[in-house]
Amino acid sequence: MREPAGEGRLMVHSVDTGSTEFRMLRSLSASIGADPLLVQGAGGNTSIKQAGVLWIKASGTWLKNARDDEIMVPVALAPLRDAVSHRSPAAEAAGQFTLADLNPRQLRPSIETTVHALLPQKIVVHVHCVETISIAVQANAEALLEGRLRGLDWAFVPYRRPGLPLAQAIAERLKPATNVLVLGNHGLVVAADTVAEAALLLQRVTGLLARQPRPAPPPDLDALLRLAAGSDYRLPASAAAHAVATDLASCRIAASGSLYPDHVIFLGVGSLIAGPGEDAAAAVARTAAAPTSILFPGKGVLMRRDANAGAEAMARCLADVVARVDGAARVNYLSREENAELLNWDAEKYRQQLNSEGATLQ
Ligand SMILES: [Zn+2]
Repeated sequence: MREPAGEGRLMVHSVDTGSTEFRMLRSLSASIGADPLLVQGAGGNTSIKQAGVLWIKASGTWLKNARDDEIMVPVALAPLRDAVSHRSPAAEAAGQFTLADLNPRQLRPSIETTVHALLPQKIVVHVHCVETISIAVQANAEALLEGRLRGLDWAFVPYRRPGLPLAQAIAERLKPATNVLVLGNHGLVVAADTVAEAALLLQRVTGLLARQPRPAPPPDLDALLRLAAGSDYRLPASAAAHAVATDLASCRIAASGSLYPDHVIFLGVGSLIAGPGEDAAAAVARTAAAPTSILFPGKGVLMRRDANAGAEAMARCLADVVARVDGAARVNYLSREENAELLNWDAEKYRQQLNSEGATLQ
């Protein structure tokens, strides 16, 4: 299934971005991107391999715009795969393998491009599916998956930072038939040779991993508005975000640390839980930097006034993920080192910057 080495740039002019498969991928990408249970903000990415070129979602862009905007970046596949196999730092951001003449907006490829390059199938879809993440954060994730994904060619990949470390961990576990990857503390990848097959596989896997979220009491909006008075905090954009605080089992899970990379990147390390009687100003006063969100147990969530759409999406994601984790589950949190390497990552800073540039990317 792997395309022969050496095609790369020479084949560029035969690439047809108007092909039916390409159009279908854009359409699938947009519908996936519009489902907050699959993709939040600029997270998730899709790709298609055509004539030696890997077309991948651009870093910082939103999948939900895939139908209307040009968000796919062309990358020469063979040299990128070569860089990955040689563990070259150039594979990390993949920027040097983009095909400039087909990339007028000079977009950068997704930071997860290496994942797509490694898989031999023509179509790869990567999502931050909350059903998957809620299992992939548990210490016994592999055993839980075993029961649900029996019969599929799946592999579990323990958490590694997205980029080269994750690519290497995937390479170690990939078998020729593998077309489903569950990434520890991260998400789901499905791969197929047509868009239709990839869409069906995604639907099948997410269906097998689905569970009922734990019901949460409604937020106490009056109390939250009182707690926000005189501070730089406000109600979140989505009412669904409150559940992480109004459901105390969820709040306890969130209180113990960071569960997946995009949480750290858009909301910071872990979650700030307000103490009894603390309002937003008092909670912030005991932290070094004002957090993007504050959880008020039993009452709901407040967001910093300048929180962008990406942070809003991640606030809701946290509620959706932890509502699907059993209160008694053993949870793997990102370590201090894992949190730090996410925050110091140049490629991620670029993505945050694009995201904070705001509304045009939504
Ligand atoms: Zn991801």
